[in-house]
Amino acid sequence: MQYTGRKMAVCAYEKQGDEMLLDLASAEIIFKQALKDADCPVQYTSCGSVYLDGVQSSFLGNYIELYVNYDVPLPIGFFGNREVSIAQSVKTRKWTGYNGETDVSGNDRFVYVTPTGRVYHNSMDCAYLDLSIQSVSRRELTALRNASGERYRQCELCGKEEGAVYITDYGSCYHSSLSCSGLKRTVYLIRLSEVHGYGACSKCAGD
Ligand SMILES: [Zn+2]
Ligand SMILES: [Zn+2]
Repeated sequence: MQYTGRKMAVCAYEKQGDEMLLDLASAEIIFKQALKDADCPVQYTSCGSVYLDGVQSSFLGNYIELYVNYDVPLPIGFFGNREVSIAQSVKTRKWTGYNGETDVSGNDRFVYVTPTGRVYHNSMDCAYLDLSIQSVSRRELTALRNASGERYRQCELCGKEEGAVYITDYGSCYHSSLSCSGLKRTVYLIRLSEVHGYGACSKCAGD
């Protein structure tokens, strides 16, 4: 999805001034190819593939927003539930050029932020932006530490007392719901000058 968003962002630039040919069909073609190239195991979803959501996805204004929703069948039933519903989204700023307003010294480059994060990132590939969600039991949890060596705290948004929990390497909380917004990673591409109240990421945006 990130690749599709970025690719579509470049199309926006190429088509600027013309009728923009940004539409769901071309995004879907890029997306399908990207899934194939990345060898995504889409066969494990309930419908055997993943499609961009035509209702939620948007190509209006300066941003491209792509959404997918899919269900993954579980090998083991969980409270009678045999499927996990997953929603993912990507928002990319269209590559509409600099229009002379950019600081030539490169101080107004594009950076990446997340709604819940407190830092901005220079690199989309920064480990702090990468969410690899693991499911662990509560018993294992006490022995586990995140990448900063901290224990996982209970998430304030989804905290429940029982069942498996979900953690990420760089997160500080454990979650009892996979659909918790604390586990969602929405990444925005914005200009450095639009960054307010964020520090630089210690991993990828240091001096
Ligand atoms: Zn970073
Ligand atoms: Zn949570």
